[in-house]
Amino acid sequence: MIVLGIETSCDETGIALYDSQKGLLSDALFSQIDMHIDYGGVVPELASRDHIQRVLPLINEVLDQAGISKEQIDAVAYTRGPGLVGALMVGACIGKALAWAWGIPSVGVHHMEGHLLAPMLEETPVDFPFVALLVSGGHTQLVQVGGIGRYRLLGESVDDAAGEAFDKVAAMLGLDYPGGPAIARLAEQGQEGRFRFPRPMTDRPGLDFSFSGLKTFTLNTVAKCKQEAGVTELAEQDRADIARAFEEAVVATLTIKCRRALQQTGMKQLIIAGGVSANKSLRAALEAMVEKEGAVLRYARPQFCTDNGAMIAYAGCQRLLAGQSDGPEVVPVPRWPMEQLEPVS
Ligand code: ATP
Ligand code: MG
Ligand code: FE
Repeated sequence: MIVLGIETSCDETGIALYDSQKGLLSDALFSQIDMHIDYGGVVPELASRDHIQRVLPLINEVLDQAGISKEQIDAVAYTRGPGLVGALMVGACIGKALAWAWGIPSVGVHHMEGHLLAPMLEETPVDFPFVALLVSGGHTQLVQVGGIGRYRLLGESVDDAAGEAFDKVAAMLGLDYPGGPAIARLAEQGQEGRFRFPRPMTDRPGLDFSFSGLKTFTLNTVAKCKQEAGVTELAEQDRADIARAFEEAVVATLTIKCRRALQQTGMKQLIIAGGVSANKSLRAALEAMVEKEGAVLRYARPQFCTDNGAMIAYAGCQRLLAGQSDGPEVVPVPRWPMEQLEPVS
C-alpha cells in the first residue's frame, strides 16, 4: 500500500510517500521559519495561508522523487490534530479532496502519534512495548506504549513544553526562533559549571515536568549578569554560559524522569521523539543513562524529529492497514489527548 502523507499542523508543510512494503519512497518539506522570524513565533493566519500554497507543489515533488504517478497512491493520511486549527484545516481539506477525487480512502492522523512512531522509519527495529518521551514545541510527555494506539500517559508538563522553554529562553538571549538548535549551538561555547540551574520537580516522586520556573530563573540570571557587569547587553561568553546551564538543566531533568519511568514500568526500551529529541546533549545523556539501566534508546534521524510528512504517512499507513479510515466529513481536532486513540495492535 502506498500512502501519501500530509502534515500541516503548525509551521512546516511536510509531504511524503510511504510504501508498506518498500518503506519510505520520498519526502519533502517546506519550513515557514523565515516567514515567522520577525514575529518571534508562529502567526497562525500566515501559517494557514502559506500551507495552501505549498501542499500541491510538494505533492508533485514527492511523486517526481519517487518516480511514481498519482494513480499509484492507495490512500491519503493527513494530520487531524492537535495543532493550529486553520493550518490543520488546510491539510485535512486538501487531503480529503484528493482522496475523494481519486476514489481512495483517507485517514486523519494524530500529530503526536506521528512523532512517536517516527523512529520506526529508521532501520534499527523498535519493538513494542516501550516508554516514549515526547518532547516537542507543544508537548512534554512520558507515555507507556503497548502498541499502536495503546498509550498510557505516565506524566507530562504542568506548564511549558520543553521545546517552548528552549524557544523562550532563546528569545531572552537574543537568538532567533526556533530556539532549540540556536541554544544548542551557543551552549557548545559555554563554560561548564559557571551557573547551576534548578532541575524542576526532580526532588519529589512522580513523572510530571515543569519548565516555566526554569525560564524565570534564566531571566533572573540574565538580569543579574547585566547588573553585575553594569551593561545593557550581555557579553557573548555570558550568553553562552547561560545557554549551557539552561540546556544542562533541561537535559538532566528529562534524563532523571526517563530513568524513573523505565524503573517504574520495568521497560527496557526508551523512545524519544519530537523536535527536542534532535538535541545532541539530550541523546548523549540518555544513552549513558539507558546503558546503566540495561535498556536501549531509539530515535529518528534529525529531520524526522521535527515536523515532517514521513511520520504522518507512516502512522496513517499502520492505521489504514488495520482497516481504519475516515468518513466524508472534515473535522480537525485542535486539542486531542492521545489516550483517546483507537488501539490498532
Ligand atoms: P508539537 O509537536 O508539540 O505540536 P511542534 O510541532 O511545534 O509542537 P516540533 O516540530 O516537534 O514541535 O519541534 C519543534 C521544537 O523543537 C521547537 O521548540 C524547537 O526549538 C525544538 N528543537 C528543535 N531542534 C532542537 C534541538 N537541537 N535542541 C533543542 N530543541 C530543539
Ligand atoms: Mg515547527
Ligand atoms: Fe510536532
